[in-house]
Amino acid sequence: MTGRWAIVVHGGAKSIDPAQAEANRCGCLAAVAAGQAVLEAGGAAVDAVEAAIRVLEDDPTFNAGRGSVRNAAGDVEMDAALMDGQTLDLGGVAAIRGVRHPITVARLMLREDPVLLVADGARTFAAERGAERCDPPAPMLPGNGAGRGGAGRDTVGCVALDLQGHLAAGTSTGGLEGCAVGRVGDSPLPGCGLYAEDGVGAVSFSGDGEAIARTMLASRVVRGLEGGDPDSAVERALVRLVSLGADGGAIALDGAGRIGWNHNSRNFAVGYVVSGAGDARAFLAKAEEREIGQDAG
Ligand code: ASP
Repeated sequence: MTGRWAIVVHGGAKSIDPAQAEANRCGCLAAVAAGQAVLEAGGAAVDAVEAAIRVLEDDPTFNAGRGSVRNAAGDVEMDAALMDGQTLDLGGVAAIRGVRHPITVARLMLREDPVLLVADGARTFAAERGAERCDPPAPMLPGNGAGRGGAGRDTVGCVALDLQGHLAAGTSTGGLEGCAVGRVGDSPLPGCGLYAEDGVGAVSFSGDGEAIARTMLASRVVRGLEGGDPDSAVERALVRLVSLGADGGAIALDGAGRIGWNHNSRNFAVGYVVSGAGDARAFLAKAEEREIGQDAG
């Protein structure tokens, strides 16, 4: 028992058009509130992460669920994963179509033997387990992607620590606009787009999925958390990303619920709250947090 809970969400490493700034902040705060309600009631970190990400998936501001972008064939294929730091169970789906909440399908996968189901297999599993469908595959809004700030990509994620001391991490993404059919990035890959291990830490990434996968960035953050503070662990991992000429951002929690986050993309929408430390906050860049002298966690 830590006697402390904490939750951090992100709405993607990207460029945020000033017209979208408020929507990004509000979306992150709404997601934090959903996760906070679970944690305050003594709920599990995995449930808090799922609850927060469902809110982000329903918000077309973000490239996940409802706001997913289209691949080269004009279809929506989504990836999501959820990891339980207590058991190291992982549930993931990739290139899944036709579901409203990929993170909930990942949650349904959490206690299953396979860690990752893709495409038709994932969709069949979702149908068998009664996951909410979304037909057509996802309500594709005109202008998603490039219209939301130029990047045409990003991802949502969440990490949480519950009152029992358990950690969880989750990701959900609509992938890259115009990407190859069946392309899967880092988001559902453990040690790449996410990771969680009790007593050590939890991390969730957004950014250049191929570069994040090649460098196994989540595992680098987790290694950095063993003996280091979360902000430094994230910063050191991002240096490797920069060395490949790629960009991204990450949120992290250590086993004690200390928060770390950073990015080398222009913006990174982040929201967080920690028990006993005041109201939830949202930022669109690390520089904003530094400006107000707010040190997370
Ligand atoms: N990492 C995601 C992917 O490669 C995209 C992003 O976060 O920008 O699918």
